[in-house]
Amino acid sequence: MFSIVDIAAKRAALSPDKMALHEVVGGTRLTYRELDARACRFAAALRDRGLAAGDRIAILTHNAASFFEILFACGKARVVLVPLNWRQTVSELAPLLDDSGPRMLLHDAGNAALAQALAVARPGLPLVPVLAEGDAPAAGSYQALRDAAEERHDWDPVWPADGLWYMLYTSGTTGRPKAVMQTFGMAHANFVNLASAIDLTAHDITPNYLPLFHTAGINLHTLPTLIAGGSVKVLPGFDADRFFDLIEAGELTALLAVPAIYQALAVHERFAAADLSKVRSWSSGGAPLPHALIDLYASRGVTICQGYGMTETGPTTFLLRPEETVGKRGAVGRPLLMTESRIVGPDGRDVPAGESGELLIRGANVTPGYWNRPDATAEALDPDGWLHTGDVARADEDGYVTIVDRIKDMYISGGENVYPVEVEQVLHGHPDILEAAVVGLPDSRWGEVGRAYLIPRAGRRIDEAAVRAYCRERLAGYKVPKSIAVVDDLPRTPAGKVRKHVLRAEAMQQAT
Ligand code: ATP
Ligand code: MG
Repeated sequence: MFSIVDIAAKRAALSPDKMALHEVVGGTRLTYRELDARACRFAAALRDRGLAAGDRIAILTHNAASFFEILFACGKARVVLVPLNWRQTVSELAPLLDDSGPRMLLHDAGNAALAQALAVARPGLPLVPVLAEGDAPAAGSYQALRDAAEERHDWDPVWPADGLWYMLYTSGTTGRPKAVMQTFGMAHANFVNLASAIDLTAHDITPNYLPLFHTAGINLHTLPTLIAGGSVKVLPGFDADRFFDLIEAGELTALLAVPAIYQALAVHERFAAADLSKVRSWSSGGAPLPHALIDLYASRGVTICQGYGMTETGPTTFLLRPEETVGKRGAVGRPLLMTESRIVGPDGRDVPAGESGELLIRGANVTPGYWNRPDATAEALDPDGWLHTGDVARADEDGYVTIVDRIKDMYISGGENVYPVEVEQVLHGHPDILEAAVVGLPDSRWGEVGRAYLIPRAGRRIDEAAVRAYCRERLAGYKVPKSIAVVDDLPRTPAGKVRKHVLRAEAMQQAT
């Protein structure tokens, strides 16, 4: 069985004085030795409170270095961490507490009211406040528990591949949220996949800014950077100005962002003059990357490499290398080292190169399943270990995969399949359009028709007829959106993806 050693202990031995985590706001710096010492103490504190291997603890915090102390403590004590989404409400979160059964809920000051409401809804759940660095000591806090415990180093250094480390809830857009189990082996495989794709080393400095209840916040690139012995800049969230400061100061060497963040940087006043040369690796994932953005960054000497992954795959499964981008614009590459992929038709057989089908993934990076949900696990994972992603993809003759769209976002207009992402790619090329999202809506004549939601560029006006004519020159008639809505913004997930089901639901409501 493939295992990984206790990462914090190993790094504390190999590079004790290297900075592991630096909170850019507030200034806290943690070396690998300090990170490990704190994790050792909190692991002991968990044991002192009677927690055993396999028990769960939940956490509601914004980005902070302490999250990774707690995550590594959980690894040592074999306690399972359950990060929760602080944007959700008590009525959304309480069922997740019932599902995961945590023995305590850690929370920061910003989530105190939410945590207290949860403790009322679920009496008996102990709350443990996580202080910010520099706060006055407080009895019962995470820091008090941690610092009162013995700094034990006698934890089993072997973290087994199938050992459960933490769980991440899906957003529940298509039903009850499910907790995707994340193992030590998945963390190892994600490291190998990502490090091999971007040549990640101890010299790298990467930002931690996406939410920690999402796989991106934990794994892109933070855990791999810590395994590699690099340094992580912890930020409270995305802030374009702060990003430009770090980029120009040479304090970021590798960046991964969702397309919305590349867009936000590109329209910022500092973009035109910014020195982008010190970031050596730029990747995008989580949602389709507009070709117009790839070209815009290319004009500034930046090659954005597109990747693909999902919570269920740890996440990194595909990521194009910069030297592979030539002639492969829009592709996500070939499956990375620890991963295999197939593209199959409705009959379950592999489709030929150039044809679209469902993307299946297998490998050490794939989840063993959903917590407490054998039904959902059996639906997603077939007996041979292939994960059904729910995404449509196609591969070219060289095996380079392009993600076409989500199966559930595809619609059928006049008997023809329409993939909204293809229409959006065209719309993103229009000079007046900053961002576009297309959804399919029921239509008595065509079955379904497309509706486009468009955010105009600053100072531009969108002319509906002109946009439709622009689409018609580039797309078959059945793909051209039948209606257009000009909007200021789009509903998004905390990771910055467009929530298409919200757009669909709103449009349906307006129609009735
Ligand atoms: P939920 O929690 O409801 O499952 P989600 O599917 O968005 O939401 P994630 O695991 O964060 O949750 O995202 C994985 C999905 O993101 C993939 O299944 C795919 O649809 C999409 N995705 C990821 N990378 C890309 C990409 N490069 N191009 C297009 N889509 C992508
Ligand atoms: Mg999903």
